[in-house]
Amino acid sequence: MDLSYVLNELAEDRDEYFRAIAPPIVQTSNFAFRKVADLRNSFDNEYSTWLYSRGLNPTVDILRKKLAALDGAEDCLVFNSGAAAIFAAVLANVKAGDHIVSVRNPYTWAQKMFNDILPRFQVTTSYVDGTGIHAFEQAIRSNTTIFYLESPNSWFYELQDLPAIAAVAKKHGIITICDNSYCTPLYQQPIKMGIDLSLQSATKYIGGHSDTVAGVLSGTHKMMERIFNSEYLNIGSGIQPFNAWLLIRGLRTLPARLERITRTTNEMVGFLKQHPRVEQVYFPLDESFPQYELATRQMSGACGLLTFILRTTQASTIEKFCESLQHILMAVSWGGHESLILPKYAGMQPADFDAANPAHRSLRMYVGLEESSYLKADLSAAFDAISSLS
Ligand SMILES: *Cc1c(COP(=O)(O)O)cnc(C)c1O
Repeated sequence: MDLSYVLNELAEDRDEYFRAIAPPIVQTSNFAFRKVADLRNSFDNEYSTWLYSRGLNPTVDILRKKLAALDGAEDCLVFNSGAAAIFAAVLANVKAGDHIVSVRNPYTWAQKMFNDILPRFQVTTSYVDGTGIHAFEQAIRSNTTIFYLESPNSWFYELQDLPAIAAVAKKHGIITICDNSYCTPLYQQPIKMGIDLSLQSATKYIGGHSDTVAGVLSGTHKMMERIFNSEYLNIGSGIQPFNAWLLIRGLRTLPARLERITRTTNEMVGFLKQHPRVEQVYFPLDESFPQYELATRQMSGACGLLTFILRTTQASTIEKFCESLQHILMAVSWGGHESLILPKYAGMQPADFDAANPAHRSLRMYVGLEESSYLKADLSAAFDAISSLS
């Protein structure tokens, strides 16, 4: 299926709604029936009928078909956050006593689920270094049901060899789940590499304007139907029609935004690498990246997230640098129009700061849609502001 067809036409039956170019926001909680038999059929087959918008909704369905096509998946479900997509995917594939093998340092709320919630139900998690496949093989126990992956990771961008890990998992009957938020389905399609469930935070690039929180989970129709009939309906965290409409709108410009962001990001990587106050830059498609070869093999792009290590001995210099930026905003998240900075130091207790540990001096930057000259000038001014500080 052509990308342009998916983004502009797929699932949009304009004859149904006045030939409008933009699809309607079907802002309804429930749907009316004329026949008792039809209502009964809907109770029995909610996954193929419109009954109640905690389940299916026509605006959401347009979005689902497009997102599943982008993922190269049979089907997908859209949640009102990426965290909800993670929760449903994992919960649907464990029972009491099971064991999960997760890549080290997955997304914060995946970790919280593994560490704080699942142990209450006797589900345990082992964390492994995902850069080699042997760690996954060695961690398998007789009760392992899930390999949880995030490639690349969203701070230092460690990759996992997705086809190799998928092959190991298949041999042992283990379900693979991959968080694909970093790449988006435009630049990496885990399902095509043998991964069972691909998920992403649509809050990031799919929404693209920092105005919607949402998550996508893709897989086989059978798996999606099972999750729909239990976790999805029960947790009640499906996306609402207006937010689905915003994501459809975001999809229209996704390739153009990613192209622009990719170009600017490459310029920023070059700019930061040559700056004397930058010790190191981490970006998966930079030749200096330790897993560059694997990155070029399984990703066709890397978008706007990079991390650099500031050369300093003082936490106060990191604060001064971040607070000196006039245009690049200090905030979590990424994928929107606006460039962002996030110091690791903000996520730790000041007393724990150790300048000898480069990770403590790391700053994650998201490159948005601004002109690169505008961003370079902002960074340069912040570097100037710390030039007399150690
Ligand atoms: C943001 C993010 C999520 C969570 O998505 P929300 O939409 O914020 O719930 C999950 N994984 C990664 C890698 C993320 O960056």
